[in-house]
Amino acid sequence: MDLGLKGRWALVCAASKGLGRGCAEALAGEGVNVVITARGETDLLAAAAALRAQHPAIEVRAVAGDIATPEGRAAALAACPQVDILVNNAGGPPPGDFRDWDRAQWIAALDANMLAPIELIKATVDAMAARGFGRVVNITSGAVKAPIDVLGLSNGARSGLTGFVAGLARQPRLAGANVTINNLLPGAFDTDRLKKTLAAGAAKAGQPLDEVAARRRAAIPAQRFGTAAEFGVICAMLCSSQAGYLTGQNILLDGGSYPGTF
Ligand code: NAD
Repeated sequence: MDLGLKGRWALVCAASKGLGRGCAEALAGEGVNVVITARGETDLLAAAAALRAQHPAIEVRAVAGDIATPEGRAAALAACPQVDILVNNAGGPPPGDFRDWDRAQWIAALDANMLAPIELIKATVDAMAARGFGRVVNITSGAVKAPIDVLGLSNGARSGLTGFVAGLARQPRLAGANVTINNLLPGAFDTDRLKKTLAAGAAKAGQPLDEVAARRRAAIPAQRFGTAAEFGVICAMLCSSQAGYLTGQNILLDGGSYPGTF
C-alpha cells in the first residue's frame, strides 16, 4: 500500500538508535525526506549515512543536539524546510524511588518527555493546518496505561503529555485541517535502552542476564520483544495520507502485554 507520503518532510527526534531510528527508516522507505536528531554526533552521522545509502532518492539531514533544550529544538526546526510529520521522542528518565527525586530531576523529566514535545508541536501544527496536512506522533510508553513503579518520573511526565495531547488533538482548527496528533506506546522493544534496563535488573538480582531476559520475554503474550523496525512501520502508518481520521489516540504496541479489554 502506498502511504501517500512521497516528498513530505519529517522531523524525527532522538533517532540515531532505537525506536526513533525505526520511525526514520520506515518514513524514509516511504519516500519521506527526514531530519534526524540525537545528542551523540558519531552515532547520528552513522545513522544518517545508513539512511542515505538505503534511500538515495530522499534527503537526509542530521542535527546533533539535545531536543530537551530550546537550542536543540531551534537547530532541528531550522534544518527542516517544512515539518509535515513530527515524531517526538527523547531518552526516558532514570528509574528510582520518588523519595530520592528532587525538583531538578522532575524538571529534567518534564523537559524531555513533556515540554519538549509540546514546544515542537507548538512550533509546527498551525503551519501544518494552514497547508492542510500534518501528522504528529509522540513516542511515549506503555507505562502511561499501566504505570511501572520504579519509572515514576516517566509515568508522571508522559501522562502530562498524554493529557495535553488529548485536548489539543481535538481542536477543530487542527483535526478539521487534516492535522492528527497521536501517541505510540511501546511495551518492551529490543533497543539499547531495554538492554541496559535488563542488565541493571540482572546485576541487582545477581542473576544471569540471559535468564532475566528470557523470563521477561516469556511474560509477554507474543513471547518476544518488539523490533524497532516494526515500531517504525506503525508510526509510518499513523503518518499516512490515509490516516487523517485517526487522531487523539493512544496506540499500544506491546505484544499483548496490557491485560485490559480496552
Ligand atoms: P534508545 O536508548 O535505544 O535510543 C534513544 C535515542 O534517543 C538515541 O538516538 C539517543 O541519542 C536519543 N536521545 C536520547 N535523549 C535525547 C535528547 N534529549 N535529545 C536528542 N536525542 C536524544 O531508546 P529507545 O528504546 O529507542 O527509547 C525511545 C523512547 O521510548 C524513550 O523515551 C524510552 O523511554 C521509551 N520507551 C522505550 C521502551 C523500550 O522497550 N525500548 C519501552 C517504553 C518506552
